[in-house]
Amino acid sequence: MSTTVPTPEAGIQTVPAAPTYRELAEMVVARITREMPAFAAKLNQAEFVTLVTRSLQRAARPAPMCPDGRTWCTGDPASHADPREHVHRGPEQSMNGVYGFDVMAAHLVQWNDDAVQLAFVGMGEWPDLDLKQADELVDDMAAHLDRLRALRGQLAALQTATKTVR
Ligand SMILES: [Zn+2]
Repeated sequence: MSTTVPTPEAGIQTVPAAPTYRELAEMVVARITREMPAFAAKLNQAEFVTLVTRSLQRAARPAPMCPDGRTWCTGDPASHADPREHVHRGPEQSMNGVYGFDVMAAHLVQWNDDAVQLAFVGMGEWPDLDLKQADELVDDMAAHLDRLRALRGQLAALQTATKTVR
């Protein structure tokens, strides 16, 4: 009777385990720096290591369940510890890149049995927005995206003009 030993699939590479998530994150970042130097040059190395560490920790930990059965809630034990006040929060969505981390962060929120709202980082004050206010945010952000695209176009045109003059 023969035993077949499964072979790892070609193309899949695993990072060797490290004693801590931070050390594993440092290895991941070192590899990105080695293989994508142009991308890595734009990063704040320390911030990137912290971000990767947090992502690895989040991925490795089984998600807690919301004790009140909100399927969209992350079930964070800290915001459900007080029996008189449960704050339900959905996963945080944000933009992360060379311009910064956790930019434009937003998540769903519900205080006890109050209406579900959209919490948005704003100026760091995290106002809770209802549906109408969320629409205003989305509309304004779409307009802002147009302005960003126009600025990007202006930047490209000015850079091209500078190169031509030289
Ligand atoms: Zn909850």
